Amino acid sequence: MRRSLVAGNWKMNGSRETITELLKALVQRFDERLEEAEVVVCPPTPYLQLSQQMLRGTGIILGAQNVHNQPSGAFTGEVAASMLAEFSVCYVLVGHSERRQLLGETDSLVVEKFAAVQAHSMTPILCIGETLEQRESGLANEVVAAQLNAVLESCGVDAMSKSVIAYEPVWAIGTGQTATSEQAQEMHRFIRGLMARRSSKVAGQVRIVYGGSVNAANARELFAQSDIDGGLVGGASLKADEFITICKSVS
Ligand code: PEP
Repeated sequence: MRRSLVAGNWKMNGSRETITELLKALVQRFDERLEEAEVVVCPPTPYLQLSQQMLRGTGIILGAQNVHNQPSGAFTGEVAASMLAEFSVCYVLVGHSERRQLLGETDSLVVEKFAAVQAHSMTPILCIGETLEQRESGLANEVVAAQLNAVLESCGVDAMSKSVIAYEPVWAIGTGQTATSEQAQEMHRFIRGLMARRSSKVAGQVRIVYGGSVNAANARELFAQSDIDGGLVGGASLKADEFITICKSVS
């Protein structure tokens, strides 16, 4: 049985004051009865230490939004996996479409980041998904398969069992245009099927979460789909009440 996961990606939002308020509100509303879902928040890097301190002992898990592929060295402004691990980070987003599109991250770089995260005993949340143009050209499955296969081929199928996959159609991120539950389920089943070709055991274990304009109104229906194991939530995770409602929507 897969335990659902709901992760909040706060992106480059907030200040010391607003992040403190958000963490306080989440901790207050967080209820251990949410045991059906693992709840993760990914604050901006400068607030990891603050978040680590405020989340200690609460059951809310700390994640990071990015990592460098190299262990150390002359990479000004970058953050190594070993550094994230020192702040009790458990999950790290890799391959988010904003980084692929705006910062030119390639599949091979994403693979290296994925491996760097696992080398430090943290869990990568591998983000994959097609653009609107690719979907409209009938290329959605091909694009998603290529992004997944890059990791499968380099790291092996067993590495996938220690990861989470986030299917995030690019056209649904931050647009308010969510994939329908049927569209999302169809792609999640396709992704699980790609893994099943290599290992049915791993395919049955790996959590595949959906991301793209998830909110309190649509989460329940999305999370009720048999291959959707929770969500990666951007905008709606910045509101404590809404995020907790989304977490409680896990069936
Ligand atoms: C995201 O950034 O991963 C995301 C899904 O954002 P939003 O929920 O705002 O679409």
